[in-house]
Amino acid sequence: MIPFAKDEIDFGCDGHVHTKLCHHAEGEMDEYVEAALACGLKEIIFLEHFETGINYSESTWLSADDFVFYQEECQRLAEKYDGRIRVGAGVEVGLNPQRLNEIRDFISSYPWNRVGLSYHYLESNGEHVNMLSRKQENIKRFDALGHEKVLTQYFNDLLAGLEKLEVDVVCHLDAPLRYCHGVQFVTEHLYLIDDILVEMARRKIALEVNTSGFTVRGEPFPGAGIIDRARRCGLRFVAGSDAHRPQDVGRFFDRLKGVRGGPLPVPY
Ligand SMILES: [Zn+2]
Ligand SMILES: [Zn+2]
Repeated sequence: MIPFAKDEIDFGCDGHVHTKLCHHAEGEMDEYVEAALACGLKEIIFLEHFETGINYSESTWLSADDFVFYQEECQRLAEKYDGRIRVGAGVEVGLNPQRLNEIRDFISSYPWNRVGLSYHYLESNGEHVNMLSRKQENIKRFDALGHEKVLTQYFNDLLAGLEKLEVDVVCHLDAPLRYCHGVQFVTEHLYLIDDILVEMARRKIALEVNTSGFTVRGEPFPGAGIIDRARRCGLRFVAGSDAHRPQDVGRFFDRLKGVRGGPLPVPY
């Protein structure tokens, strides 16, 4: 992977930051903005979790009331920090293939600065299993279901959802099953990734380079192979830390400038 050039990605903007409203992050929203200022960013975009119709043991997303409060807070912070740093209100929409109309209605009900698309929860026998979780109960379910099958469904559903939803960014494209052992993409996955990238290029949807991957596996989500492929498709990139703590805002952005070579996770 050639290091990102300045005009290819905005290193001054962290476009993927959470808040304690999603129940698995910590710190006040003001603290996230202060952290962004401290590391010299020009813009921070909160990208909180929206999910709908998910049957899971805990809520990792905001309620309807939370989103009202969240929008007000983003607005308050944008005014408070006006002239020092831009503060945006965004949403990380979790795909649920059964609820596309509801998702579409939700997206259009607020004036978002950024809409990211993710796919966390896979439906299995009437329950949902979190594809991005490190919890053993999730990992065991995916081991039983079969990684290859799960990933094929993930990419297929994501492509179908992408075709029907208006979004700005696709988040951490290759992150599912990141905590399962021995996960490998097969040719079918690579073709589906290609189709997703082509659809994104056609609609000018950006690809997120999610730097939380450096903690998990030493390279961002997605990895070098997909980034190279996206580059050849002419995609735009945006950087996001996926911070769930103020101190993680802007994490590893410097490494995006210097990432070079290394084994490709995907044999393009
Ligand atoms: Zn989260
Ligand atoms: Zn996130």
